[in-house]
Amino acid sequence: QAKALGRNTYSFFTKEMNIVIQRRLAIEAQLRGALDRHELELYYQPQFEIRKNSIIGAEALLRWNHPTLGNIPPDEFIPIAEHSGLIVPIGQYVIEQALRFLSKWQLSDQKSYTMAVNLSPRQLRDTELLNLIKNTLADVNISFGSLELEITEGVLMNGQSYINEALIEINALGIKLSMDDFGTGYSSLSYLRQYPFDILKIDRSFINGITLNKSDCDLVKATIAMSHSLGLTVVAEGVETKEQLTLLSDLGCDFVQGYYFSKPIPAKQLLDFSAALL
Ligand code: C2E
Ligand code: MG
Ligand code: MG
Ligand code: MG
Repeated sequence: QAKALGRNTYSFFTKEMNIVIQRRLAIEAQLRGALDRHELELYYQPQFEIRKNSIIGAEALLRWNHPTLGNIPPDEFIPIAEHSGLIVPIGQYVIEQALRFLSKWQLSDQKSYTMAVNLSPRQLRDTELLNLIKNTLADVNISFGSLELEITEGVLMNGQSYINEALIEINALGIKLSMDDFGTGYSSLSYLRQYPFDILKIDRSFINGITLNKSDCDLVKATIAMSHSLGLTVVAEGVETKEQLTLLSDLGCDFVQGYYFSKPIPAKQLLDFSAALL
């Protein structure tokens, strides 16, 4: 009986599906110990102010280098961390590391540097998140306004009241709220109206096309104009060419980040990179 059922269940999955599931399970199992084994490291991608051509801050981006699985991209392991709840301890590590680094970086160059940290939905459900953020900011002596929390539409999609409350508290503390990947979801505009955003990040997929097709250029232009009239600061993600930068400058975009300036790099490298520009 059991055997027959087992065989039927098995045949339901294709070989390809099995490989995907096995990989997912392996990643989840390995991710459980990744923090303790010190396999997770934050990289930082500098952000620039177009008009002054200077660094204004950085975005913290997590990297996972596993001894046998190799480099696993965040687009693959973050959703698994989110689903399994592992994002809570991992996210705490990210916040502590990023703010510790920011404190060092501000002391070595400029007090005005900001740090952007990505948050996923599960983290905002964690009642300890805001306490951790407040305590860490106080510990490392950083003002609340130097921290930016980036969220995507996915965080807001289910409209839970605790999310709303968390965002209101974040705003009241003076921490900046940033809408990441703007333009890729369905309801970004209504979220901009409902929640206290300070920064809008135009998704890389639009920046890609701005020098190639008029519709992308028009969309970016309209997004910048709308953001400014709402009092939002605009960051363009994924700037890869000088032509894109020039066009974004003409369109009045405030800040940029992308491979044209720098890929995400380790802390030490960012210190050298930014010191060389001062
Ligand atoms: P994101 O927050 O939208 O980050 C931007 C992504 O674009 C990063 O990918 C970055 O390396 C990449 N990027 C930046 N400039 C360029 C460019 O000029 N060209 C191209 N092709 N790509 C560029 P990454 O580091 O692989 O991260 C992917 C996503 O994983 C992030 O998207 C974010 O949603 C998530 N993520 C990364 N670190 C964390 C974290 O610490 N916590 C959470 N919750 N999510 C994270
Ligand atoms: Mg981001
Ligand atoms: Mg993004
Ligand atoms: Mg993204």
